[in-house]
Amino acid sequence: MEIIKINNHIHLIGQDNSIISSSIGIISGEDYSLMVDTGASQAQLKTLEGGIERKELPGNIRYAIITHFHLDHLSNLKYLPLIKVIASKNTSRYIHVDQIIDKAVDLDLQDLKVTVFPLPSVHARGSIGVYLPKEQITFIGDALCMKEKDGKPYTNKDITINMVNTLRSYPTKKYLLGHEPSSLTQDQISDYLDSIYSQCRSSRSTDVFLSGNLIF
Ligand SMILES: [Zn+2]
Repeated sequence: MEIIKINNHIHLIGQDNSIISSSIGIISGEDYSLMVDTGASQAQLKTLEGGIERKELPGNIRYAIITHFHLDHLSNLKYLPLIKVIASKNTSRYIHVDQIIDKAVDLDLQDLKVTVFPLPSVHARGSIGVYLPKEQITFIGDALCMKEKDGKPYTNKDITINMVNTLRSYPTKKYLLGHEPSSLTQDQISDYLDSIYSQCRSSRSTDVFLSGNLIF
């Protein structure tokens, strides 16, 4: 597993392809630092420890923001007993959550502001996103993943319209995802968002079967 440097404040530890695991985001702040998801493989935690020892990654990680309740995003929490958890109310049905996100909340890391916000998504109830306004970078977990029925992608009309509206309200140059590809630019996903948005808007039914070139 490698440590991917996005910028001075943000690193990613990629997914471990030998098991189902999400990537881990690290947001470094002066006062404290954050993880975005914890992944699910102990090799990822070894990579994290090594990065901290080499001072490539911050030693003051205090919180883990969990983007949604799926195990591949959070099962490493059991090895991180000192880390406090920020997540949605729905996620708190599965794990202990120290700070529940039910509306957008700003965290002040002293040299960096971070907004944690509810992100409606058909992939998982209670998904949240993490926005860095200065860098215009947004962590979106697996929110873009659609559902599937008989091999065909479909989604829920209202949830998807709300998701696209929410994403558009946070001007973003780079999106960081829970799985590979680990990042996408605004240009790379804007057609996708436009397409699912207009298909949902013009649908009369709640379940919308999607057509076109879907990346997720
Ligand atoms: Zn997931």
